[in-house]
Amino acid sequence: MKYHVVSLGCPKNKVDSERFAWVMNSAGWKYSEEADRSDMIILNTCAFIAPATEESLDYLSDILRWKSADLTRKVVLAGCLPGRYSDDGSGGLEDIDLVIGPGDWRKLSSWLGAVFDGPAGVIGSGSYRYLRIANGCSNNCAYCTIPAIRGKFVPQRMDTILRESDLLVQQGAKEIGLVAQDSGNWLQDGTDLASLTETLAARHPSIWFRLYYLHPLHFPHRLIDIFSRFSNVVPYIDMPVQHASDSILKRMGRRHGVETIEKIMEELDRSPVEIAVRYTVITGYPGETESDFIALRNFLGRYDSGRHIAAFSWYPEEGTLEYARAVERGDAVDDSTASRRLASLSAVGDSLYANWDQRLQGREIPVLVDDIHSGHTVWDAPEVDAVVTFTEAVTPGTIVKARVIESSGAVLMAELVN
Ligand code: SF4
Repeated sequence: MKYHVVSLGCPKNKVDSERFAWVMNSAGWKYSEEADRSDMIILNTCAFIAPATEESLDYLSDILRWKSADLTRKVVLAGCLPGRYSDDGSGGLEDIDLVIGPGDWRKLSSWLGAVFDGPAGVIGSGSYRYLRIANGCSNNCAYCTIPAIRGKFVPQRMDTILRESDLLVQQGAKEIGLVAQDSGNWLQDGTDLASLTETLAARHPSIWFRLYYLHPLHFPHRLIDIFSRFSNVVPYIDMPVQHASDSILKRMGRRHGVETIEKIMEELDRSPVEIAVRYTVITGYPGETESDFIALRNFLGRYDSGRHIAAFSWYPEEGTLEYARAVERGDAVDDSTASRRLASLSAVGDSLYANWDQRLQGREIPVLVDDIHSGHTVWDAPEVDAVVTFTEAVTPGTIVKARVIESSGAVLMAELVN
């Protein structure tokens, strides 16, 4: 019997999908690349914001159509969509054979009648993989659905993380991304995220480690020193700063002000190691004035370490604190203003890339090869940031030295250096 997994959303969901694949393989099923040739499809959904929910629902209706052609086919709906909507009483789930919440691999295994004694595994492939170090989030930002979907922050045990890192390396990973909703909050028996990173980097010295989702409130300042001491901890900071106006940050419930993120950025700019920051921000937040927006735009353009901007418009997400409050106060930003602000941030993003283009031109840099013609640098996360395109075929899963011969924003052209 064959199964196929459709994994939507962020890298954290990918980890859950790889766990489901491990359950399925352990229960005797075989993975199929082709959904049409499968007997079961597991749809692992994202429902963080409205567009993600719509995408998940589109996939679900396609898959239910696939099932309606042969009712012996099975459909498993997993992830945030059922986590968010399963209790709304609106029905519509009756054609689905199994509904499981985010990461609930145990429910999948008991449905399959499989019993596992040892620790859970993951199955996947590729030059880069992700390792989940915690579940849930306790920050309760006013616009966010995650705490309601995934519950409070629960750190993964250190021995589990080390064991899973070994597994990923055995399966061929050359880069491991540490993911969680609030990675900097990870703490186990006095060991913090910085110490965990050191342990992992020393255990797997030829593997790149990349840290994702470093909330400014729990920023691991010691990481900057670790970048200097461990060349395999890539100098990359993925930081959801969200805004650069104190009043908006306060309304978002972020529990830190602009000074906190300014100090972090100044520290990163002072580092002898060249660090790249990926900012995540929300514009068009209810109550955002033009001067709030200008403060955000100026902040994003200010620091040498800034390389990527992932900007989103605010969505009125049902069930969040801001959903009701914006209606009550009547101060939501209109769509055209929000779109204009988003476009303006995109222009700042272009200028950050232009600065880096100049810096990288002609330089010899390490690149992790993801497929025969492309890869990514230490300053770029796979799938979301800049891509390196090689002038010749290269072996996937290797780290090569390459010279940048041309760069334009999110595309770097590079030739191999012997
Ligand atoms: S820290 Fe992130 S995941 Fe947690 S509540 Fe805030 S936005 Fe949501």
